[in-house]
Amino acid sequence: MADRVRVTLLGTGTSTGIPVIGCSCPVCRSSDPRDTRSRCSALVQVDGVSILIDAGPDFRAQALRENIERIDAVLFTHHHFDHVVGLDDLRPFLFRNRAPIPCYAPPETERVVRQMFSYIFDDGSYPGVANLTLHALDGTPFEVASRESGNVARVIPIPAWHGETPVYGYRFGKVAYLTDTNRIPDSSMALLKGVDVLILDALRRRHHPTHFSFDEAIEVSRRVKARETWFVHMTHTVGHAEEDQAMPEGVRLAYDGLVVGA
Ligand SMILES: [Zn+2]
Ligand SMILES: [Zn+2]
Repeated sequence: MADRVRVTLLGTGTSTGIPVIGCSCPVCRSSDPRDTRSRCSALVQVDGVSILIDAGPDFRAQALRENIERIDAVLFTHHHFDHVVGLDDLRPFLFRNRAPIPCYAPPETERVVRQMFSYIFDDGSYPGVANLTLHALDGTPFEVASRESGNVARVIPIPAWHGETPVYGYRFGKVAYLTDTNRIPDSSMALLKGVDVLILDALRRRHHPTHFSFDEAIEVSRRVKARETWFVHMTHTVGHAEEDQAMPEGVRLAYDGLVVGA
């Protein structure tokens, strides 16, 4: 049976992207395409509804690479630049949708994004700007509808912490996506119960104050008991081939363009 929820990992790299500008380390110079990582983003397709998670600096190239033709909604995880600065590149989708694309974000992110893109959100009179609406989430599950099919997808926000910054992960059926986090409170672990496929921030082997290290992410994966866990947001200290085969059963490193689902 085809997966009900299909996730295309548009980007799987940390904020610099890999290769890092000016770096000649073995991963940045690797010829393995899985070592080239654009900034983190994902396209989630649920029952004919297309949902974009984050729109970073590589969004345009990612959308062209994956031939994305439609986006019904955008979910932001948080307001760091590598997750939001591609918002304006959504303009081509508006002509296709012929209606505003709703964007959803945690409250602080909603404020920052509205400020960053004030020409879009505060004054809709400027011609040719992206026709978007922006909504602050309060953690309550909500529904996103496809204008084309009329189908509806249910989204469950998963509140988590990225150092001192509040972020949201998102759950769709048996799939959950959590990037940029190093702490998931118990109340949110409860929301991950029954998840089969977990996409999770795992920066690198070494500890970091705002991202899970590999060991920390493996521990989360064990607690969730996901069938598959896929790591994202990795740095250039992570060589795909070597590190992927060293992972415990059920845990793998994602790469740009990988499709997973449940
Ligand atoms: Zn990030
Ligand atoms: Zn490097």
